[in-house]
Parts: sequence; C-alpha cells; structure tokens
Amino acid sequence: EKQDLEVYRERPGKTADGVHIEVFANIGSLAEAQKAVETGAEGVGLFRTEFLAAQGLPTEEAQYAIYKDVASVLQRPLVIRTFDIGGDKPVPGLDIPEEGNPFLGWRGLRLALDRPKEVFLPQIRAILRVGATHDVRIMLPMVVVPEEVEAAKALIKQARQELLSEGKPVGNVSIGIMVETPAAAVTLDQFRGLIDFASIGTNDLVQYTYAVDRTNAHVKDRARPLGVATLRLIGQICRAGIPVAVCGQLAGDIEAVPLLVGLGVQELSVAPARVPLVKRILSEKTWGEMQLMAKQAIRE
Ligand code: PEP
Ligand code: MG
Repeated sequence: EKQDLEVYRERPGKTADGVHIEVFANIGSLAEAQKAVETGAEGVGLFRTEFLAAQGLPTEEAQYAIYKDVASVLQRPLVIRTFDIGGDKPVPGLDIPEEGNPFLGWRGLRLALDRPKEVFLPQIRAILRVGATHDVRIMLPMVVVPEEVEAAKALIKQARQELLSEGKPVGNVSIGIMVETPAAAVTLDQFRGLIDFASIGTNDLVQYTYAVDRTNAHVKDRARPLGVATLRLIGQICRAGIPVAVCGQLAGDIEAVPLLVGLGVQELSVAPARVPLVKRILSEKTWGEMQLMAKQAIRE
C-alpha cells in the first residue's frame, strides 16, 4: 500500500482522463514544509501562521525570516494565511476580551482590520518582502463581505508604498480569501475583481452552516460535512468565476474528493501525509464521472 503510493510523489494530481487538479499541503511550520516537499505536494495551500504566535505575535523580522525559510524549502507556491486569531485562539500579549461566542466574535480578519498596526501590517510587510524573491500569496481568513477585503487591500497598498519608500524590494503578491462563512459562499461573485483566488475552509463553513460548534463534542455529529447544504454552497462558490481551492479537512476525505472536483474545485490542500493518497483517489475516476457523482449528491 505504502509502496503503491510512492509513485504519486513525483506526479501532479490528475483525474483518470488527465485533468490537472493541484494537490497542495496545509502546514503550520518549517518542518511541515519539509514534509510537504517529501510527500510531493505541488505547493502549500494553507500556512496557518497563528501557530507562530504561541508565545506572542512574532515581529516583522521574525516573520520575514520564517516565511523566507519556508518558501526556500518549498520552491513552489506558498499561500500564507494571515493570522486567524482571536476568540478561542488567544495570543499572549494581545488583550482580547473574553467572549461568550468566540466563533461569532472578534476573530480572523475582523481583528486584523481593527488592530492593523499590531496585527496586520507587520505580517503584510513580511509577506510582501518575501514576495520579491518567492511565489508567496496572501490569504485572508474569516471574510464575510467584500468591504472587508477592500479595507485589507487598502492596508496592503499602504504597506507596499511604505516599503518602497524605505527602499525595500517588494513582490507582486496575489490576494485570496478563505470562504468559510455562508455569507461569503453565497455572494462570492461579488468579490470578482477584488481577489485572485478563493479557498474553502470547510471546517468553519460546515460549523456555520449547520450551527454546530466544531469544538463541542455533544453536537459534533450533527454537522454534515458532505450534506446537501454543504455541497450546494460549494457548487455555488465554484460558479462565481474565481479559481477555487478547498483547504478544510474535507479536501483530504476519500469520499469527498471526487464530489469536490465534480463540483468544480481546482485545487485540494491537505495534510502533507495525505498528498499521495489524494493523488491516487483523483486518478481513479474521470472528470465526467466525478461531475455525475456530484450532480447526484447535490440533488438539484
Ligand atoms: C477551515 O476552517 O476549514 C480551515 C482550513 O481553517 P482552520 O481549520 O484553521 O480554521
Ligand atoms: Mg477556518
């Protein structure tokens, strides 16, 4: 079994009839970037940078060093998600008041936009600087409406201009969003022209769609990651005219892979260890077969 999967390491993700579906990896550290290279990931679709903030927010220089190291190890596309902190993920040194409903609270991009000097700008500066030499991309978490992306882009523009006026080289870095709220999912077409790509965070999207706290053991089983509601949302996301990836857990689920691809997903980002398996699953059916499966599952 393990040996079987070896052959997929050097190959891109492809359906049985040769449609390229990129298989990327999710990472949270340099060690995992190394692992992603070893397992044959075609890029990193989600770098969870909040893992770097366990002892407090890292400085711009510290972030620049780590992003550069990760990008150098990879030598392939690196999607850096800006800090998804707040609510239930406290960061030492950042005083965020305790919240009754942290998943509906001051988290992700909301916090970043409200605390730009502390949270957002140093991270953006670090990413733009690495962008001068590597293919790094910015991904914004917990987006709800286009206005938030407009505000984030204004700050990114500001960071770029400040770096240039300091004589520091910056790259042209593409900008995408996580689609993990039903609001963003059903209105993704409204983000056209604002963003270069979208990546579905199914962990949160499922939690918000089925009103099931992802950390609450009493209700966990009531969520339907592959339910009709999830699939219809994903189908709608794929019709928005924006390239779509999935980076939530569903992307590495054997049963989900053909359905996601059949709905129009172009990239799957999964735990490094699952990369070869996902490539094999992709190779077992044609794109048309996957589309048919998706059509039946979505019951439209
Ligand atoms: C998700 O919500 O699916 C996701 C990939 O982000 P995280 O699990 O880090 O919230
Ligand atoms: Mg999420």
